[in-house]
Amino acid sequence: MNYSDVIAARFLTFDQMYSYEKRLQTFADWPFREDCQCTPEQMAKAGFVHCPSENEPDVACCFYCLKELEGWEPEDIPWFEHAKRSPDCGFLQMKSPDELTAVDFFRLEHGRMVNYLRKMAHMKIAYFRDQVDVTSRNLRLLFEIFRPHGGSVMQGSSLDPCNVMRGALNPSSICSAFPQILTKSCRRLTELNK
Ligand SMILES: [Zn+2]
Repeated sequence: MNYSDVIAARFLTFDQMYSYEKRLQTFADWPFREDCQCTPEQMAKAGFVHCPSENEPDVACCFYCLKELEGWEPEDIPWFEHAKRSPDCGFLQMKSPDELTAVDFFRLEHGRMVNYLRKMAHMKIAYFRDQVDVTSRNLRLLFEIFRPHGGSVMQGSSLDPCNVMRGALNPSSICSAFPQILTKSCRRLTELNK
């Protein structure tokens, strides 16, 4: 499961986490218990759900803003950490669930969905930027390799045209038009160099 799927699964199941008791139940294996500020009770009161993984056993995620925090220390105060890292989170101003009307609840769910969509959009933009950087680097390498009077390139090296093309033509690339552009550019440059 990739990270987008993890976030989507959390969003879909966290509608149950308006309940303090349900959040508290997720902290059954939480490592901080005695002589700590960040006990399971304080974590759940601050809106967190325990979302451990094999490599990150202390990941906690706000059920509302989906802010993820890890690397907890015993003296960390969960509510304070939440407010510091996600000051606009709607949970921090939320009434007690017992006082919520149906209209309040629908408004809150709307806000939770906006938070989810915003998080996913930021992730997609970051991914797109990474892909642009990779494609841009591959293009620069190609122009370097095929430049007029260019030096020879060792086969198998990072500048080997085959390796560069393989990277540029990676099917995960968002810009599907780039491979055609690259192929045309390579042909043209090769002809010019003859
Ligand atoms: Zn939050």
